[in-house]
Amino acid sequence: TSFLTMNLSRPIHKAITGLGFLKPTPIQAATIPVALLGKDVVGNAVTGSGKTAAFIIPMIERLLYREKGMKAAATRCLVLVPTRELGVQCFEVGTKLAAHTDIRFCLVVGGLSVKAQEAALRTRPDVIIATPGRLIDHLRNSHSFTLDTLDILVLDEADRMLSDGFADELAEIIKSCPTSRQTMLFSATMTDSVDELVRMSLNKPVRLFV
Ligand code: AMP
Repeated sequence: TSFLTMNLSRPIHKAITGLGFLKPTPIQAATIPVALLGKDVVGNAVTGSGKTAAFIIPMIERLLYREKGMKAAATRCLVLVPTRELGVQCFEVGTKLAAHTDIRFCLVVGGLSVKAQEAALRTRPDVIIATPGRLIDHLRNSHSFTLDTLDILVLDEADRMLSDGFADELAEIIKSCPTSRQTMLFSATMTDSVDELVRMSLNKPVRLFV
């Protein structure tokens, strides 16, 4: 497989080339075409497999081709990650892949100023990358912040979010998202609690095991 046969827009191709990615990794080859169709996906993938770009590339592409008709700024994608470090990594990959677009990312993790994050969220970034604990704080305490306009939800390292005790937070966040969204879930292991999360939050997912 090649990135060229995936029908991606020019700005994304340019960014992929700029990053030096020559061909898709197996998880990218499996995920990107399915995700571009708007289907829910479950991916069994570990760190190092290229899973971050596997969900960020179709996310940016879908933001681009649906942007034309949309006027007001609105948050369309939410990526939940278990740790601050993973959030930072994901933010960096996303910012680089969207370098030639006007898509805006916002990082909402612990250790950063709540006030500054509130201000950033009020500008309605296209994509929010967050840890569940910090996102819940904003959902509960900020009157202006909602997930009503969300199109795409990503649950990254789902097994780790669950084992880190975020199950209740995840359930509360997922309940705040529109049911018509696309959901992508990635997990290194497929435990019973991950399966339960899949049943609770995904709609007829395509399962990708690479
Ligand atoms: P991840 O599994 O998302 O943490 O990615 C692991 C590393 O692989 C990161 O440093 C990426 O920049 C790199 N990477 C992701 N996709 C590709 C690709 N298609 N070709 C080469 N490197 C890649």
